[in-house]
Amino acid sequence: MIEIKDLHKYFGDLHVLKGIDLNVQKGEVLSIIGASGSGKSTLLYCINGLEAIQKGEVLVDGVSVHAKDTDLNKLRTKMGMVFQQFNSFPHLTALENVALAPKIVKGKSKAEAKEIARAQLEHVGLGDKIDNYPSALSGGQQQRLAIARALAMEPEYMLFDEATSALDPELVGEVLDTMRLLAEEGMTMICVTHEMGFARDVSDRVAYFHQGIMEEIGPPKQIFGEPTSEHTAKFLANVR
Ligand code: ATP
Ligand code: MG
Repeated sequence: MIEIKDLHKYFGDLHVLKGIDLNVQKGEVLSIIGASGSGKSTLLYCINGLEAIQKGEVLVDGVSVHAKDTDLNKLRTKMGMVFQQFNSFPHLTALENVALAPKIVKGKSKAEAKEIARAQLEHVGLGDKIDNYPSALSGGQQQRLAIARALAMEPEYMLFDEATSALDPELVGEVLDTMRLLAEEGMTMICVTHEMGFARDVSDRVAYFHQGIMEEIGPPKQIFGEPTSEHTAKFLANVR
């Protein structure tokens, strides 16, 4: 479980997260929506310890992410992260890209790491592209490669930061399908997204962020059907 308690984040004087309280249960899919600059990415970075926090607490399976004695590298192996921009190594094939972390971080043998990589590339529908270099993959395929790389670490949580935002519209669907598959398999997921269809159909809950505050959280039906916050209603009217 991920527990976020009264989380405050500042960049200098800028108060970016203003007291976030949020629990994400095992197996849950949470979508986070909200305007640009509302603090969505920053929240993800605070969850996996890429950003320091100034007040409050983030616990992952009971372990404090920001405590001084926490082994952050170990904790991070529990959390796969997929960003908007593709982040694969251009000089490695798809298979080598996915095999890298199991080998280096998890200490798997070369053969084991390759086996894991092959399985995860199959998993995201890239079984026939294992020898391709990233430059020989479409944007959607590159993003699925990024997902396979994260999955190869056998994470318990997957954090997605607008994984489809940089894609041409015709490539968005294949990546959302892969994310949907993971959700159906029971992966615990936090997805910052602009894809309202995904948020509505796949998430268990949707959170709306406004200027560093989580204004509203609830089942998609409630958020999309009868938002209680005026800001949520306005935001949804503009994105639809
Ligand atoms: P978007 O939808 O555009 O990705 P977001 O909701 O993810 O927006 P964040 O990236 O979390 O927003 O940014 C929240 C606020 O924090 C913004 O005002 C941003 O300018 C500021 N910010 C983010 N990163 C930094 C940083 N490293 N240094 C200073 N300010 C930052
Ligand atoms: Mg962002």
